[in-house]
Amino acid sequence: MRAYFMILTFATALLMLFPFSVKAEYPEAGMPKAERGMLELKVWDSRGRDVLPLGGEWEFYHSRLLVPADFPVTNAPEPAFINVPGVWGGQEVSGKALSNQGYGTYRLQLRIPETLRGQTLGLRIPSVATAYRLWIDGNFTASNGVVGTDRESMEPRNVPKVVYFKPESSCVELMVQVSNFVQRKGGMWQAMEFGTAEQVAHRRDIRVFYEVFITGSLIIMTIYHLALYFARQKDRASLYFACLSFLIALRTMVLGETLAVSFFPWVRWEWAVKIEYMTAGLALYFLLLFIYTHYPREVHRMAVRWTEFVTICFTLLVLAFPARVYTQIFYIYQYGFVLPLVLYIIFVYIRAARRGREGSVSNLIGLLGLGASIIHDQLFYSFLISTGDWIPFGFLFFLLTQSFHLSLRFSRAFTREEKLSSDLRLLNESLEEKIRERTYALQKTNLELEQVNRELSRKEQFRLRLLSNISHELMTPLTSLKGYIMAIVEGVIPANNTKYWDILRAKTLFLEHMIVDLFELTRLETRQIRFQMIEEPIIPLMKNLYLKYELEMRSKGLQFDLELPEDRNVDWNGLVAVVDAVRIEQVFSNLISNAQRYIPEGGRIVVKVELKYAEPANQTVVIQVTDTGPGIADMEIEHIFERYYRGSDLKKRQESGSGLGLAICKEIMAIHQGSIGVYSELGKGSTFYFSIGVYNQSESGAEKNDS
Ligand code: ADP
Repeated sequence: MRAYFMILTFATALLMLFPFSVKAEYPEAGMPKAERGMLELKVWDSRGRDVLPLGGEWEFYHSRLLVPADFPVTNAPEPAFINVPGVWGGQEVSGKALSNQGYGTYRLQLRIPETLRGQTLGLRIPSVATAYRLWIDGNFTASNGVVGTDRESMEPRNVPKVVYFKPESSCVELMVQVSNFVQRKGGMWQAMEFGTAEQVAHRRDIRVFYEVFITGSLIIMTIYHLALYFARQKDRASLYFACLSFLIALRTMVLGETLAVSFFPWVRWEWAVKIEYMTAGLALYFLLLFIYTHYPREVHRMAVRWTEFVTICFTLLVLAFPARVYTQIFYIYQYGFVLPLVLYIIFVYIRAARRGREGSVSNLIGLLGLGASIIHDQLFYSFLISTGDWIPFGFLFFLLTQSFHLSLRFSRAFTREEKLSSDLRLLNESLEEKIRERTYALQKTNLELEQVNRELSRKEQFRLRLLSNISHELMTPLTSLKGYIMAIVEGVIPANNTKYWDILRAKTLFLEHMIVDLFELTRLETRQIRFQMIEEPIIPLMKNLYLKYELEMRSKGLQFDLELPEDRNVDWNGLVAVVDAVRIEQVFSNLISNAQRYIPEGGRIVVKVELKYAEPANQTVVIQVTDTGPGIADMEIEHIFERYYRGSDLKKRQESGSGLGLAICKEIMAIHQGSIGVYSELGKGSTFYFSIGVYNQSESGAEKNDS
């Protein structure tokens, strides 16, 4: 925002400074003025910067092309007087109103102070409409175009010139022949400027410098905005702006110091004037288009169409006809079209500013400057005021504000774009985060679903297995039970014989036992039982189990012994296994009760606990239950862990249980990731064993062999 105001201030300063540099062109109150063809210069400041506009009453000989030779004192023609600067039109000579078309001779006697005698003096001849010849002190000094008495014999040209001369006396005689048959204004409409050679040269340099500066600035703006447009063709504002700058640059080059004619002498007067008039109309048209792209809601489409139409007509008119035609009707174009359009544009800007449109305040400021310069120049070219050509500065000021507005728009768009992309990045990041969260939640739900699924399928398995087990295994005892009951009912067996009732009771107990075991096994197989796995010191656990059953065994007249490992280097109490102690007891008691069932009276059961060092990180405790029973035949060994296997010996079968005990033990050990097995010698006894992974609690937890 600060830069913005700095540019505005700079532009305003430029605009305000320039009039001072051109002020000397116009006679100010108190400055010496020509009276009745004579200009008295009493003093002259040679060191000052100011030049003197030779304004006032010049002698004028209408419709006569005189030369210095026509002026010996005696036969001097009767002079009339005319105001300089000023066009012929509207002035009177000898009671006759002058026309802008015609020819005549101007004459001025300039009395200079003694100090200037012998010095080189300068005269700057600005725009004279539209051809002249100049004599100083009787010497032909300069000309522009060809002076003639009608349209055919004259040739217009407009290039400001500077001439230098050395006066021999204190009275300098200036004679200028002027003719105009080619355009609306005729005569010396700008005043010649007088001063020392340095003063005049300096004045010219300053003007050339300013015009080159303005033209250069405008051309750079043109190139810059054209580049912007080609980089982003969607944005037409840059294109319109480039056209506008270029047109003003072109116009500046054919006005004032007519840089175009100085640089390119082949540019003919007619074309220079065509450029001057066409660029004005076209520039206004592009200005309106430019404003329209910014404020489409504030500019009426009809205004654009109408401007387009008038501009095309006027441009064609300028192209098709010579200057004397279109410059005559320029007033109509000026007051009928340009002025209302400028007012309309100001109205649009005020409207945009009131509606708070982007950049409208800066536009308004720029436009007011430009508007002021246009109105000023309208007055200048219409000879209502006599100060210089302000439009280029007005335009430079306006274009600077517009260009600044454009760049502000670009930078705002860029800032918006930056914000959008950062928002997008944030959104993306939060999206990724959301996706991660959702994926995690989905994975969790999936896992839960899988678990529920597994649970469900286990339950289903359990149901099916139980059903098949029950139907398979309970049928036989039920049929036998039914047989006995039928026999009692039918009187085949006497009902008062208690022996049969005992059999019936044993059978129902067996059935009950069977059902309990079946349930247990099925639950184990389908993992329906939750194990309470905790770290247990395995040796104390086995010792306690042994002690728990010791009394019962011994009371049955059996020898019941415990053998523990004896290595003193091992911390036996620190050896732990992750087990469900209740289930381990179930295995232990099953093996003990099987052994006690099969050994004869006085037989021996030995419980032995051993540590196997398979690997340091994979130690195993093996618990053996050895009995002095009948042993198991090799062919049976492979079957005894199967469910319902109760041995081949019929007598033994009578004594045995459901045939599910070892199958249950096998399942329990599988869940503990341990093993169970037997080795036996027929007639000598059997050794059942089960093993569990253990680790030393004092060692690293990483070596845990958890089940
Ligand atoms: P049960 O409940 O019928 O004993 P088990 O699964 O416990 O069922 O045993 C299956 C079979 O293994 C038994 O019927 C028996 O033939 C044999 N058996 C089990 N333990 C011993 C043992 N200590 N000595 C000899 N045979 C055994």
